[in-house]
Amino acid sequence: MTRFLSVKGKALPLPLFLPVFELDNPFVDIDMLGQDFGFGAIMTNAFFLYKHRERKTEVLDKGIHEFLGFDGIVVTDSGAFQQFSGPLYLKNKTIVAFQRDIGVDVISPLDLITPPGDKRTVASKKMLATIKRIGQVLPLSGESTLIGVGQGGRFLDLRGQAMEMLAELGVSYAALGALVPFFNRNHDMEFVGRVIRQARAILPKSVPIHLYGGGDPLELPFYMALGCDIFDSSSFVHYALGGWYMTPYGALKREEMDLKNPPYFCPCPQCSQGIEKVYQDKVSLARHNLWAIVHTMKKAGGLLKEGLLDEHLMHIAARHMELFPSSRLAGSWQALELDREA
Ligand SMILES: [Zn+2]
Repeated sequence: MTRFLSVKGKALPLPLFLPVFELDNPFVDIDMLGQDFGFGAIMTNAFFLYKHRERKTEVLDKGIHEFLGFDGIVVTDSGAFQQFSGPLYLKNKTIVAFQRDIGVDVISPLDLITPPGDKRTVASKKMLATIKRIGQVLPLSGESTLIGVGQGGRFLDLRGQAMEMLAELGVSYAALGALVPFFNRNHDMEFVGRVIRQARAILPKSVPIHLYGGGDPLELPFYMALGCDIFDSSSFVHYALGGWYMTPYGALKREEMDLKNPPYFCPCPQCSQGIEKVYQDKVSLARHNLWAIVHTMKKAGGLLKEGLLDEHLMHIAARHMELFPSSRLAGSWQALELDREA
């Protein structure tokens, strides 16, 4: 059965990828995302709009959809990454009210980022404070959907507690915060996978789970299989800037790519001119990377619905390990499979 993200009269089938849109980023323009790629939902940063005086006035006046020129689902983050000192409770309320007032569909509270290095007492405090903030602003979110963000750092039980508390609060959308540093470790999905599986087991099936910052087409199908529904990332741009060409089996730099026998024949408009050309132009490369994500979401999403995703994961892992023998992908997936059997 297809599940949907439904907000303010708009509904999109899950799983869903939200490309990150940044106003001053020359690599992404809104028509490209909406029209060329057909994205029905995007993610953007509300804090950058809030702190920019002219833009703030304009977006309050026009509303976010007209301001951006995008009528799909707009998800915003609150600038938690940019937060500094100050009366944070007030700031949490202020930034949530701002997102509501500009008509954002899915809004974020000002959560407390918990890096993997945080010790248990700190991680626990931040997780509880984040939950408290969510409780404080739930009644302020109006018709918008408020994201229940789970923190907890590197502690699985704290992350589980966060999900239980979010379920009690009755959130209708949940996100897993501050996991990016974990999946940047040589494709080791073990911890992130456990966090996703645990969240899926605790939250009602109707609550979609969003993995903040998830955007490597290699890993997305695995996270989907574990029960994650929504991803957002600007990885396609960052990878392009670093010279990486994304494939479903891992990203390759030009010198790693066998052009005579590429691991993946990409059907995107960029690659029709030849991969060599795509490598030479960062804008082309970013677009190709975004297509690689789109194709991955479509394929894995379809297989998930048909109950055939597991076999496909075996294929991805095998092909990836041929290309990157020292990767932790297959090993970490095996560990997650063993968890399931235990
Ligand atoms: Zn391509």
